[in-house]
Amino acid sequence: MNNSRRDLLKFAGISAAAAAVTGCSAVTGGASSTASDTKTAACKLLGKHQVVIIGGGWGGLTVAKELKKIDSKFDVTIIEKNDSFMSCPFSNANLGGLNGVNLSMLTHDYAQAVEKNGYGMLTAVVTGIDREKKVVHTSMGGVAYDILVLAPGIDYNYKEQFPTWSDAKIAQARRAAPGALVPGGEHVTLDRMVKNMDDGDVIITVPSGKFRCPPAPFERASMIANFMKNEGIEGKVIMLNETDSISKGAAFKESWKEINGDMVEHRSNCRIVDVDFDKKEITYEQTVYKDEDDTDGVKTSKTIKYSVFNLIPHNMSNPVIEMSGVATTPDAFKKVKMASSADKPVSFQTQSDASVYAVGDVVGHAIPPSGQTAIWSGKECAKEIAHVLHGKSYSVASALPYTSANVCYSMVNGNPEEGIMVNHEFMVAGPVIGSKGSVPKGDEANNKFRSTGLGKAAREWYRGAMRDLFN
Ligand SMILES: Cc1cc2nc3c(=O)[nH]c(=O)nc-3n(C[C@H](O)[C@H](O)[C@H](O)COP(=O)(O)OP(=O)(O)OC[C@H]3O[C@@H](n4cnc5c(N)ncnc54)[C@H](O)[C@@H]3O)c2cc1C
Repeated sequence: MNNSRRDLLKFAGISAAAAAVTGCSAVTGGASSTASDTKTAACKLLGKHQVVIIGGGWGGLTVAKELKKIDSKFDVTIIEKNDSFMSCPFSNANLGGLNGVNLSMLTHDYAQAVEKNGYGMLTAVVTGIDREKKVVHTSMGGVAYDILVLAPGIDYNYKEQFPTWSDAKIAQARRAAPGALVPGGEHVTLDRMVKNMDDGDVIITVPSGKFRCPPAPFERASMIANFMKNEGIEGKVIMLNETDSISKGAAFKESWKEINGDMVEHRSNCRIVDVDFDKKEITYEQTVYKDEDDTDGVKTSKTIKYSVFNLIPHNMSNPVIEMSGVATTPDAFKKVKMASSADKPVSFQTQSDASVYAVGDVVGHAIPPSGQTAIWSGKECAKEIAHVLHGKSYSVASALPYTSANVCYSMVNGNPEEGIMVNHEFMVAGPVIGSKGSVPKGDEANNKFRSTGLGKAAREWYRGAMRDLFN
């Protein structure tokens, strides 16, 4: 059976409502479709659904499951470009070579989620959104909706960070120094690079601006150092941070000092000037400030060699957000502006369109961009949509303040396995949901942030989250 037929069956078989209205056949499919194929396919209407969700990640899967839990009669379909789910959370534990953690533990089968929860799923790339006609265009054809949920996650903004780089150089950066901040093959590439590395340094860049999972680069440094130590690989893990900010800073610094000594090094205020991917050389400029009043600082240019390079570029909302044409914040990230009214002070409805909602890392609330936040938001967004479909009203503000809406663990050691955590409370903060974080001491008896208890809790959290999304 060819790909297009199989993908169409996947869609039609999963969603009875779609099959009923499907009057067309998709001619091509998948990410490899040519532009003209995509255009042809985009003209065909595959079907219509009450709720269409773009993105089968942490936010999208949660909205779909919750809607079906609230009312099994709701007709809900997800459009997702990847064939299978790959988790970013716990991918650093995989790089660290923690006991029993491997790539297959990060990978999940969408069919399981669909079977268990009863929503539909179309494997296709979203290529455009017509909000007037209420149709999402995809590489497989058009999908009409009553309510649309935007949950496409983030993308990289190489162009903003490296305006002089050609498309070919950006493509080389993606291959040779993958960011590994989005689900998919980049995690496999970075894993291969780390697991096959020779002696030498691993360089991780930390971007400025809003980026996915602020503790992720720092946890990655701890975990790669753990792997290198266990394998006897000579070298350092060096973080080149564009700012001086470190999420869970005191906790990470404590663990680097006490576990890794000088093997892990954090360098503040480092701007990447250029990279020679063939020579494996990075040129960067570091600014050192004398004190808080020193605004200019002293700039020094340095060139360093690397064995493995994890270039985490600036982040931005996935281009699906721009395709939708909803209002976004004026910064480079372009968060979705959310609706606010006297009845519903905070909401997952977009400011621009009452039929369009957003969840996950793209939302314009002042809440951390994490998987746990996406789950919490997805549940609240589903409640809002379910009330609308039932002709009622629901205000997310009624669920706030919410203690421990986001609990995020980071692994800092492999032997013994130790973790640290941050806990966020969410609250109404003007027209948006705000948050307040705290980093507790995991081992109060020894006055340490890290503990084996938090290491265990990290594993339990991951197992629980996968159950939440797939069972
Ligand atoms: C290394 C790392 C570690 C992390 N650790 C943690 C942690 O410990 N705890 C925690 O809570 N969070 C963690 N996170 C953060 C978490 O992964 C994200 O916050 C979460 O995935 C956001 O969910 P989302 O639904 O917004 O996006 P995603 O989960 O990325 O889902 C978006 C989906 O949309 C799909 N998509 C995008 N464009 C299109 C298109 N055009 N057509 C069709 N489909 C499309 C994508 O393929 C993807 O499946 C970590 C992240 C990283 C990178």
